[in-house]
This record gives sequence, C-alpha cells and structure tokens, in this order.
Amino acid sequence: MMKIEKITPFLVDKFLLVRVYTDQGVIGNGEAGLWAHHRMVHRAILDLSDYYIGKDASRIEHHFQTVSRDAHFMGAALSAALSAIDIALWDIAGKSAGQPLHRLLGGKVRDKIKVFANVNGATLEERAASAQEQVAAGYLSLRMAPFLPGFERKTPSQMIGEAVATVAAVRDAIGYEIDLGLEIHRNLRPEEAILLAHELLPFRILYYEDPLAPESLEAMEYIAKSVPLPMATGERFYNIFQFKDLIDRKIVSLIRPDVSLAGGITQVRKIAAIAEAAFVGVFPHLMGSPVNIAAFCQLDASIPNYVLMESHTGADAYNDIVDCPVARQGGYLLVSDRPGIGLEIDESKLGSYPYQPKKIVGAFHADGSVAH
Ligand SMILES: [Mg+2]
Repeated sequence: MMKIEKITPFLVDKFLLVRVYTDQGVIGNGEAGLWAHHRMVHRAILDLSDYYIGKDASRIEHHFQTVSRDAHFMGAALSAALSAIDIALWDIAGKSAGQPLHRLLGGKVRDKIKVFANVNGATLEERAASAQEQVAAGYLSLRMAPFLPGFERKTPSQMIGEAVATVAAVRDAIGYEIDLGLEIHRNLRPEEAILLAHELLPFRILYYEDPLAPESLEAMEYIAKSVPLPMATGERFYNIFQFKDLIDRKIVSLIRPDVSLAGGITQVRKIAAIAEAAFVGVFPHLMGSPVNIAAFCQLDASIPNYVLMESHTGADAYNDIVDCPVARQGGYLLVSDRPGIGLEIDESKLGSYPYQPKKIVGAFHADGSVAH
C-alpha cells in the first residue's frame, strides 16, 4: 500500500497548487480553482490533510466520499480543496501504474483537444484585428465578451446596440466558417439578456455563456426558454448535484464544470456522464497554471462529450514551474502520454512567483449602484 505522507499547498502568483507526497516517493500534483479566494482554500487543504495523512493513496473515490460526506457541510472552498487533492491522487495513480491518466479513465477518445481563443480589444477595430490574428494562428473557435470597456455605465438599450455592433464587426472580420461564442460574464439582467440574444441571432453564435449571475436556476430557466441561443453555464458550480439539477432542467447545451472546483477528476467524469446521457456537451472551465491545463487535458481526452475549453495561453508565462507543459498545435492542445497528468512541479521555481491575491474592487453603474 502506498501511503500519503504529506500534503503541501503552494500559493504561487495567482494560482493555488498542491502536492501530495507518498511514502514510496511518488508525488502527485493538483490545483485548486476557487481563484478569487485561494487563501481560504489553502487553509482548507491544510485542514483536510489531517484526514489524508497515513491513508492509502489509491482509494481516491473512498476518500472523496468520506471527506465530502463526513459532516455534510458544503461549499466552494471545501470543494476546491477536495478537487486539488483529488487531481493529485489521480496523478499518483497514473504515475504508480506508469500510465497516463487518460488510460486509467478508459483511454483516449480523441488525440488532441480543441480549444478556443479569446478576442480582445477596446474598440471595434481592435476586436476585428484580434479575431483575425487568432484565426491566422490556427484557432477554429473564438470567444468574446460583446461589451466594450465601460458598458456598465450606459443604458441597457445603448449597451445592447454596442454589443451587437461589436459582434457584427468580428463576424465581418472572420466570416462564418469559424465558431464564435459569447461570454457574458454574468453581467446582464434577464430583460437585457433576452433582448440582446434576439438581436444576436443572425450572427451564428455557438453559445451564450453566463448571461446571468449563477445563483438562480429559475432565472436561468426563464432566459433559456426565452432566447434562441444555446446556453452554457456552470463554472461557479461546485458539486455533482448542482450539475444534475442544471442538466435535468433541459436549459443548457453546454456545461462548464471546472475540474479544480467541481470535485476533481473523480466527480467531473461523473458529471460528464450525466451530461452525455442528455446530449449535453462538456465545455470545461479552465483557469490556473500549467498544472491545471495538464490535468484537464487528461480528462478531456477520455470523455466522449467534450466540446471545447479555453486555450488559456496566459498560463504559458508560468511554464517554467513544471518540467513538461502541455504542447500546443494551432487551435489544439496535445494529449500527453507521460504517466499521470504528464508533468512534475519544480518547487525550486515557485519562490519566483509571490502570491498575488485578487482584490475586491467592484463594478458600478453611473448612479453608484453595484453592476453585475
Ligand atoms: Mg465564463
């Protein structure tokens, strides 16, 4: 039996990594995805480590069930801590078997992972140029927020007109053979989301991501049944039960589980299976470091209903914290066949990236009330 000896969380720049050490020298790497509140999760990982130390590293499902159901307290901080440890335990399972994680999950159902690129820019011209650059780089799928900076301060009508013009500018720049999805970042009220969606119909929008704040599924249901665009949501959900409820309501085409928040490999592969049975696609929400990219790719490679995720090139600036970052090829990530999630964290590099906590700054309308 391979025993867990130690669990150490690392606050690194804007990431929270975890390493699980075993008595046989195999070390697992994971990452937590509650990115606005990493210090809470850092503390939660230390707290949970009391349970794990001395336990059999191979009993991954058993540990998830024991810890998550011990006292039935729930929440995103606890789930993010559990997710990070779970990913590390699957990494250990792969490394101790000498196999890539995807092989433990049933093997590859795809050879490479299709990813989207974000379209950026503060003006219509910048957006159009950004979209063309991403297509030239090989991306077949783009995503954008349709709003330009400062939209919170305008009237809903003005905001909707500007959003439509922004989408039109990008479609004009890239044509209609490239996929285009819209990320609304929970910024609209129901009436705004409904009006905007109807005006966007001519632009062949692949998905309408998070038009509303995530707390009310009833509100999401109202929107989904009132708008003609495919809906995507779920990046703030933190357990299988929330996804089951979402899928059962028949209001989404795509779900956005974050492996580092929604229960690790253990739970997100089950969430994917629930979605598969309803023809709902999996569109994982990827934040974090090169460790998260590697872990997500292993799961994406093994589930039949994977659709898309972030290219997340912003994480490439941190590639030196691992020995073998995931390789990119145009609009795809390549699936590693190295053991586990396919990399090791170089702890000697972590000190170069002091923790950068996210500050709460808010966003406000012209009258001073809170936007979003
Ligand atoms: Mg999103």
